[in-house]
Amino acid sequence: MRKRIACALLVCAALLSGCKRAAEPVKFTTFAMDTVMDITLYGQDSDKTAAVYETLTAQISALDSALSVTGEDSDIARINRGSGAPVEVAPGTAQLLSQALELCRVTEGALDITAYPAVKAWGFTVGEHRVPSKEELAALAADIDYAAVQLEGDAVALPDGMELDLGAVAKGCAGDILAREVRDSDISSALLDLGQSTIVAVGAKPGGQPWRIGVVDPAQPGTYFAVVELEDMAMGTSGGYQRYFEQDGAIYWHILDPRTAAPARAGLASVTVVSPSALVCDGLSTALFVMGLDEGAQFWRDHPELEFEAIFVAENGEIYCTAGLEGRFSLAEGYEAREVVVLE
Ligand code: AMP
Ligand code: MG
Repeated sequence: MRKRIACALLVCAALLSGCKRAAEPVKFTTFAMDTVMDITLYGQDSDKTAAVYETLTAQISALDSALSVTGEDSDIARINRGSGAPVEVAPGTAQLLSQALELCRVTEGALDITAYPAVKAWGFTVGEHRVPSKEELAALAADIDYAAVQLEGDAVALPDGMELDLGAVAKGCAGDILAREVRDSDISSALLDLGQSTIVAVGAKPGGQPWRIGVVDPAQPGTYFAVVELEDMAMGTSGGYQRYFEQDGAIYWHILDPRTAAPARAGLASVTVVSPSALVCDGLSTALFVMGLDEGAQFWRDHPELEFEAIFVAENGEIYCTAGLEGRFSLAEGYEAREVVVLE
């Protein structure tokens, strides 16, 4: 995540002219959380829509400053420098930590927000990639343990040497917060694209049809292999294609298996999660990628309370989709001949 936030209001016809026309889209692009975010708001009242735009940009900026792992003064950086002592953080950060730790628990550590030293060792934070030795990885894996994070009220303590990284859940958290703000305003239709495949659909499209969101083909990241229809729903994808490097003919991606501190190789190329909660989408897409197809499908069967559905793409190109997506999931043009296995 970077400190710098660049906001550009791209389409804002009704706002700028001051006229009040129904359902004029307001689109803006923001750089935050190390990614480009595209927000589209359809409001009936241009003044209110402008106010919502102002609030959203302020909230994105505040979240970026609080959660950035690289920002000097962020809550996360201060926790990581805490050397075992409790560090006071903003109530919102403590709440996100609590929710993220719950996802770590329920996924039995497939998601582990203390993987940061390993993420750094592979060079993913600054883009200076390297392959750590077996001994280094064993030592890094031994220190990954979300259960060691102590959260009491708004105070967080981490054992010396451990470090947090909310990269696997921060965009989802932002999606839920922004969607709540939009729903609390008079805006009944909005699309919040938080970059790197975290999307929240607020309501339906202005005409009443569901939003149609493409799912990236991990084998050809420039194209979509499927379309999911979303209405008041979030979607998040994790995949090895999103961030990786190549060395000596091998590919190393950014999603690590906390048990080995090495890239998770469970046979999957990507996992997409659909849920009313963007945080669940973000956290579980990372966790299910680590678990792999069989364990991930069983996790879906075992956790109906998390209200999610999933699409798995295996490294061999096979496509699997959980039964609850039937009617909302379809193959994209050019992919109609592909087989989709429905998981029950
Ligand atoms: P995502 O793109 O949401 O799947 O999150 C991946 C990011 O989360 C990586 O870039 C790392 O910063 C971090 N990360 C990698 N592996 C894990 C893991 N198993 N649990 C939690 N965070 C992880
Ligand atoms: Mg994630």
